[in-house]
Amino acid sequence: MQYPKSIERLCSLLHKLPGVGRRTSERYAFDLLLHWSEKERLDLQRALTELSGVGFCQTCGSISEGACSFCQNPARRQDQLCIVASPKEVFTLEQTREYSGLYHVLKGLLSPLDGRGEEALGLESLFARIKTQDVKEIILALDSSLEGDATCLFLKEELKVFPVSVSRLAFGIPVGSSLEYVDGGTLARALSARSSY
Ligand SMILES: [Zn+2]
Repeated sequence: MQYPKSIERLCSLLHKLPGVGRRTSERYAFDLLLHWSEKERLDLQRALTELSGVGFCQTCGSISEGACSFCQNPARRQDQLCIVASPKEVFTLEQTREYSGLYHVLKGLLSPLDGRGEEALGLESLFARIKTQDVKEIILALDSSLEGDATCLFLKEELKVFPVSVSRLAFGIPVGSSLEYVDGGTLARALSARSSY
């Protein structure tokens, strides 16, 4: 027997979220129905509506509500660009409080298997920024995956024509973990990228 239409509709929308399977979407829908107050549901509705007001910075590609809090901040280093693959990663890096330069969000990563070539990265705006902002240093903060590695390698070659230093985030042992439980690939990379101590 099928759920009422309103529940079915909610389930199919929740099911679109990453990591939410059909059963989880049903659990969420019933929780919203049975355990959330009317006010909480309205708050959720309002929060979803407000997402329409979130835009993308024309310069760095990060999300912004009005002026970009990164590009418009004179206290940030203008000659340092950290390249990421998604606007969310900008905030992940910000939480470390270790970086005070600017960001540049790529439109995606290279993935020849999925037919995503260099045109999918949207590099024109990056190259224009390097020139106009007199960028001196570029940090590649991309995934340690097949696509991330391919994109880093490609960017490293493309950036050779600019007078910039290029580095990539270090790979290593996760903080607080035991060597015994670190996978071979991570350990091999940590060994080859070891730093003086
Ligand atoms: Zn920006």
